[in-house]
Amino acid sequence: MFKNLINGEWVEGPRVTRNINPSDTRDVVGEYAQADATQARDAVGAARAAFGTWSLSSPQQRFDILDAAGTEILARRTELGNLLAQEEGKVLPEAIGEVARAGNIFKFFAGEALRVGGEVIPSVRPGVGVEVTREPLGVVGLITPWNFPIAIPAWKLAPALAFGNTVVMKPAELVPGSAWALADILQRAGLPKGVFNLVMGRGSEVGAVLLDDARVDAISFTGSVATGRKIAAACLARMAKFQLEMGGKNPFVVLDDADLDVAVNSAINSGFFSTGQRCTASSRLIVTQGIHDRFVSAMVAKMQGLKVDDARKSGTDIGPVVDATQLAQDLEYIAIGQAEGAKLAAGGRAVERNVDGAPGFYLTPALLTETTASMRINREEIFGPVVSVIRAKDYEEALALANDTPFGLSSGIATTSLKHATHFKRHAQAGMVMVNLPTAGVDYHVPFGGRKGSSYGPREQGRYAAEFYTTVKTAYTQA
Ligand code: ADP
Repeated sequence: MFKNLINGEWVEGPRVTRNINPSDTRDVVGEYAQADATQARDAVGAARAAFGTWSLSSPQQRFDILDAAGTEILARRTELGNLLAQEEGKVLPEAIGEVARAGNIFKFFAGEALRVGGEVIPSVRPGVGVEVTREPLGVVGLITPWNFPIAIPAWKLAPALAFGNTVVMKPAELVPGSAWALADILQRAGLPKGVFNLVMGRGSEVGAVLLDDARVDAISFTGSVATGRKIAAACLARMAKFQLEMGGKNPFVVLDDADLDVAVNSAINSGFFSTGQRCTASSRLIVTQGIHDRFVSAMVAKMQGLKVDDARKSGTDIGPVVDATQLAQDLEYIAIGQAEGAKLAAGGRAVERNVDGAPGFYLTPALLTETTASMRINREEIFGPVVSVIRAKDYEEALALANDTPFGLSSGIATTSLKHATHFKRHAQAGMVMVNLPTAGVDYHVPFGGRKGSSYGPREQGRYAAEFYTTVKTAYTQA
């Protein structure tokens, strides 16, 4: 059994959960201890006690530990990628890529630990000096989702530790394996006891402790809008700092002058890869009328060639949906779309067994055409391999449709026009804009985050991560 890490000790919990492989539900990835509220509080206490020393640790110590963790993650990318694909269901090359990303994130933030500089500014008063420095926040609670089982924990954990915070992390219930592997690696990399604590368990129980315990100074969360709202309310009530990454309803605009292959490949990638379970996935393809029919035909042709099968089998393009609940939600949205008048142009069929007879949560990628902006399928996040096409008159209408959403994470366009690409980059209401690239798939060393209903608080990743994981101090000295 895989245990929780509290104050440097591996501890059992009152319950155990079985981690199930969505590609073959007969396959149990492992048994994982579930912490309860008391253990979550113990973990917070351990993180609190460890903060004093860790917050004053040398940058070299933090560099060495984060760098060692990054090196081990990169060296074990195939093995850890296999585990990730097994527990989450994204295909093996994507899973290995995600693990490599996590390793690189640790390497990046190892370097950032050495670069925490400040500013020296002349005072307006004679004889006075002003220094602006950054200090850690204290204990940070990390609550992570299932769709990036190692990259999201890594991109919260690495900056939190690099800047001298201590951490209690609660990974998503469906994917404890990758989070446990990360805890094991960090533990062996030499983190002092209590600096990083892993508590696996339910959001409503273990997550809730992190929100309400006054010893937790800040919460970084990625997950659904509904949970994000609860977290915001709980943190505000006790003035804790918080950062939220939530849903998306990302548009991908295809203009008449687009390179058709670029447009189709980008839409297939960002609509369906990782089974459409990325917050940056394109779920609305907004296509101008001169290219609409050619684009839809090319999409349908390409989709017919996509192989839906076991995530770890070579040649699989699309793995299973993560679990039965998510599959039911995807199918429900397809039905809602059809009831609203959309046409199911391809896919959308649940497949109970793959070609080897293994039972899993398979769904053929679905394309809904003849949809309008007001349909629920174009307003609500589905979070599966379900994409709709909206017809637009021209660029101006396409841009307006792209921005007509409560979300604002990523926004893409396929065009060969410099004029439209430049205008779109400026006017897309999103935290990230992609030109002739999928809306999903981002670098690890630059800011990640959105606007409107997608995100709240400072950006994650890259140097901008310091905005969340540190607090600024302005010191005045009279010489
Ligand atoms: P998803 O659809 O990705 O599962 P959730 O928002 O339900 O989105 O879950 C994201 C993370 O938030 C998970 O780790 C989950 O356990 C946690 N979570 C869910 N509900 C709560 C809650 N009430 N308090 C704290 N954490 C929660």
